[in-house]
Amino acid sequence: MTSTLAHSSQLLLPGLDIRTARGKGRGVFALYQISPETLVVVGKFVKLFPDRTSHSFQMGWNRHVKLDKVAEIINHSCDPNLRICNNSLGGYNFHAIRTIEAGEELTWDYAMSESQSIAVEKCLCGVPQCRGKSVGFTDLPLEEQQILHSKGVARYLSEWYIQQLTQTILRQS
Ligand SMILES: [Zn+2]
Repeated sequence: MTSTLAHSSQLLLPGLDIRTARGKGRGVFALYQISPETLVVVGKFVKLFPDRTSHSFQMGWNRHVKLDKVAEIINHSCDPNLRICNNSLGGYNFHAIRTIEAGEELTWDYAMSESQSIAVEKCLCGVPQCRGKSVGFTDLPLEEQQILHSKGVARYLSEWYIQQLTQTILRQS
């Protein structure tokens, strides 16, 4: 029992709280204001999945992984306050894109890692530019890919995006 409690408290980084997010199950919330560019959550590799699941993180065209608890609980938003980048632990780090206020839910955009997305059939993020459901990076219109890429996406998607862009420019020249 003691070890379980100790273990569960280690799951939470200081300043974060796991609460019920309206209509979305659990979510991760900021207890204090977070400055832009702060490393908020480190998502560590736990295990490989044979295929995409609604909780897997895509790290390559055929690589779907489970990350540890806090990363796994962060919900999607079509206008997120976090971006991701590959880390040395086989997962993703989550950085604040902008100032996150105390009490605000932490969110990232599933299209930052997923080439296609099955996770959210009906998106509840509630932002004006909501896509209605989660859409994979490769299925987004070019302008949205560009915006997302400038925020920060998975390395394999960034490489793909730059390759596509280069080919388009070469075709036009
Ligand atoms: Zn949405």
